[in-house]
Amino acid sequence: MRLVLLGPPGAGKGSLAELLKESFGILHVSTGDMLREEMKNETAIGVEAKSYIEKGALVPDEIVTKLIEKKLSTDANVKSGYMLDGFPRTKQQAESLDRILNDIEKPLDYVIYLEAELPLIIKRLTGRRVCKSCGSLFHMTNRPPRKEGICDSCGGMIYQRADDNEETIKNRMEVYLRSTLPMIDYYEGQGKLEKIDGNKESGDLQEILMKKFHEEEKNH
Ligand code: AMP
Repeated sequence: MRLVLLGPPGAGKGSLAELLKESFGILHVSTGDMLREEMKNETAIGVEAKSYIEKGALVPDEIVTKLIEKKLSTDANVKSGYMLDGFPRTKQQAESLDRILNDIEKPLDYVIYLEAELPLIIKRLTGRRVCKSCGSLFHMTNRPPRKEGICDSCGGMIYQRADDNEETIKNRMEVYLRSTLPMIDYYEGQGKLEKIDGNKESGDLQEILMKKFHEEEKNH
């Protein structure tokens, strides 16, 4: 299974990726996670990326494309499939991705497009909490951890991302509409786009998606 998860912030891409990783063991590649790791380690990339991320703006194409190219061409797990979460985010990134995947002879099977409305996105993202150690996702009302501030999976510390505040979320949404939405046409043109309604409650959404992915597995 080789796929891209596309959709606005808070549409459920990260939760879906967690679910797919658990069920099928495919490699989850999130440029957001990679950039946050660079920031944590205070690398040159991390320092540069920080100023963009904190505003809710996109990090320049060359930086993220280099990161993704390195990952896809060196991680042996790519052979068994991958899901890209948060990349590509611009048409230029999508074109670079086609070239990279062509070079490693692992083209995309399809692109899952999760749609969701702004009020729901704000509710999901302002309540979102993330484990600092393993990246597990929680939500203050929908999926609180068993013990406050502590990750159920690894016991790590749970925190709120600095860009998960209402103002930055609105910026991220504007950026998404301007830069990322045109990629819908790009992938539709390639016949690879699958639309899914991300407004559903996460339980219902998971059920629909798991049914779909099990069918896909059978057909491959
Ligand atoms: P995410 O974790 O996917 O929500 O990404 C968090 C932030 O990282 C975004 O708001 C961007 O600032 C940056 N980022 C992640 N992926 C990309 C990308 N493909 N292109 C540019 N910026 C990115």
